[in-house]
Amino acid sequence: MKTVTVLGATGSIGASTLDLVARNPDRFRLHAVTAGRDWERLAELARTHGARVAVIAEESHYERLAEALSGSGVEARAGAAALAQTAAEPVDLVVAAIVGAAGLAPTLAALEAGTTVALANKEALICAGELMTAAAARSGARILPIDSEHNAIFQVLEDVERIARIVLTASGGPFRTLSLNEMARVTPEQAVRHPNWSMGAKISVDSATLMNKGLELIEAHHLFGVAPDRLGVLVHPQSLVHGLVEYVDGSVLAQMGPADMRVPIAHALAWPERMPTPVDRLCLATAGRLDFEEPDRTRFPALALAEAALAAGGCRPCALSAANEVAVGAFLEGRIGFLDIAAVVEETLAALPPAPVSTLQEVAEVDAAARAAARSFVAHRARR
Ligand code: NDP
Repeated sequence: MKTVTVLGATGSIGASTLDLVARNPDRFRLHAVTAGRDWERLAELARTHGARVAVIAEESHYERLAEALSGSGVEARAGAAALAQTAAEPVDLVVAAIVGAAGLAPTLAALEAGTTVALANKEALICAGELMTAAAARSGARILPIDSEHNAIFQVLEDVERIARIVLTASGGPFRTLSLNEMARVTPEQAVRHPNWSMGAKISVDSATLMNKGLELIEAHHLFGVAPDRLGVLVHPQSLVHGLVEYVDGSVLAQMGPADMRVPIAHALAWPERMPTPVDRLCLATAGRLDFEEPDRTRFPALALAEAALAAGGCRPCALSAANEVAVGAFLEGRIGFLDIAAVVEETLAALPPAPVSTLQEVAEVDAAARAAARSFVAHRARR
């Protein structure tokens, strides 16, 4: 029996995780569930899934959450400190599924406590990769990747010393074949309608700009300790091959599976064992063909920006990710256009001086400076 805490339980990854936990009551017991603002859904999930603790990050929602949970036996908590404290409470596995840099503090708290973390929250690793991997090394905590590409690599990883190249696949998103002129007119509704995966709004937009793949390269660098020049991307519209590792002898090992996040989540939940899932089985005869192509960095400049940030290191990945969060938020609110997202990130990176980041305080300062700069570039573009 594994005890599990789910950070970001009300989101898309949270829902898939709780679905798997509920199907396997003999394997898992839920300790805590958390959310950002959606206290109503959080209370419902905590009751339905028999959690002991429910934490809402937005402190002003405490009373409503506590009232909704009264008589249920679930303890209500609120605020950033309660979130980090709950993440550090002893369990077998913390599922880190908060979106954005907001997930950094609780995920780091879990790692510092020595708890195995099943990581979906890539932005946390991107803004503070060195700090997170160092914390895990100090406490002996493991990081198990949930992101489908990284979970794929983890499944076929034999010996990091013998890797020639790691290749992450990208579906290409909903606008893979559109021209720049056509992309200038796309709406948030079109951008969140991913052709293969059902995901939260932010990562769906990141997939449409290909920023998601760039963020994943940075994530792979930290997770597997592989140099940036040995990490690559291939567009694979069918999303059936999730990741490939080429070894020094020329062998290429790939992981395949249906485009359903419950497969990599189940792998991380059950690791080092495997457990059955209710997903549709992959049928290659039905799939018929597998296509691969190079990504187009002219139509999708966000990928090139992320690659440059990875190569530069220091504060660049954190600034890139923070600016991207602001720009994607503004696009989803209808304030800027789709092509403005990468433009705002580029302007933000150009405005900030490169600097090393070695403490959480420095990460917070870079994050705040990048958000402030990005907000001003958004405001400038929104006025046009
Ligand atoms: P969603 O937007 O669906 O869910 C995000 C979760 O984070 C919600 O529970 C939300 O709570 C919570 N949250 C938001 N803001 C805060 C905050 N400030 N403090 C605390 N909690 C907060 O996101 P996804 O599930 O799609 O993605 C989660 C993470 O997993 C992202 O980093 C994403 O990149 C990664 N990922 C997702 C995949 C997917 O298929 N969805 C695939 C691979 C990786 P509330 O509901 O209250 O807002």
